[in-house]
Amino acid sequence: MNKYEEKFDNVLKKIEKARIQTNEYNIIDIVAVSKYSTSDDIKNFYHIGQRAFGENKVQDLKQKMIDLENLPLAWHFIGRLQKNKINALLDLHPILCQSCDSLELAKEINKRAKIKNITLNTLLQINSAKEESKAGVMPENAIDIYYQIKEECPNINLKGIMSIGAHTNDQKEIQKSFEISYKIFENLKKDGAKICSMGMSNDFELAIKCGSNMLRLGSILFK
Ligand SMILES: *Cc1c(COP(=O)(O)O)cnc(C)c1O
Repeated sequence: MNKYEEKFDNVLKKIEKARIQTNEYNIIDIVAVSKYSTSDDIKNFYHIGQRAFGENKVQDLKQKMIDLENLPLAWHFIGRLQKNKINALLDLHPILCQSCDSLELAKEINKRAKIKNITLNTLLQINSAKEESKAGVMPENAIDIYYQIKEECPNINLKGIMSIGAHTNDQKEIQKSFEISYKIFENLKKDGAKICSMGMSNDFELAIKCGSNMLRLGSILFK
């Protein structure tokens, strides 16, 4: 095994262990968050089987997509989306935008997507720990906003929710934030929500135990 395989194998074993302990029927997608790394690094993970990658800046996403255009990769946008970058993001046709964090932003995306005659697969970001430093809708408003986007934004294809675990070492607090997000996801499932994106390098096992089916892993793979 090369060092990438070793690193990846180690992470996969942890994911699989938590998955089997929780729900063996839950399939979990891994998005490798490549924001700390280079296009060459991404290639190394591509060669050992990883296909989905995530970036948090539109410009970086564009550059890496250009560098790696010959590889069949699935690109996710996971960062804060400024209004003046919406068109640029839409032109890149990411497979999923995980970070729609308000009704207002959704309406802006919808307006521009309509002009381009495209739809954007999107997750609603929820600020479950109610942290000032974080983007996302408040958990108590999430369901209403989700349905409002569904109704008012036909060029947005809502697929579920994304959330970042509470920023603390207190496992109980992190778990609480995941449970709040999962409850919202569970509510939305009956209306077709499919993706519950939560869990990063420091908290992915806990996120799996709380029902996540999409992990966003950066530093554990790339650092
Ligand atoms: C950077 C980032 C990640 C990955 O974080 P790690 O802790 O490095 O795994 C996941 N999600 C979002 C939204 C990020 O910005």
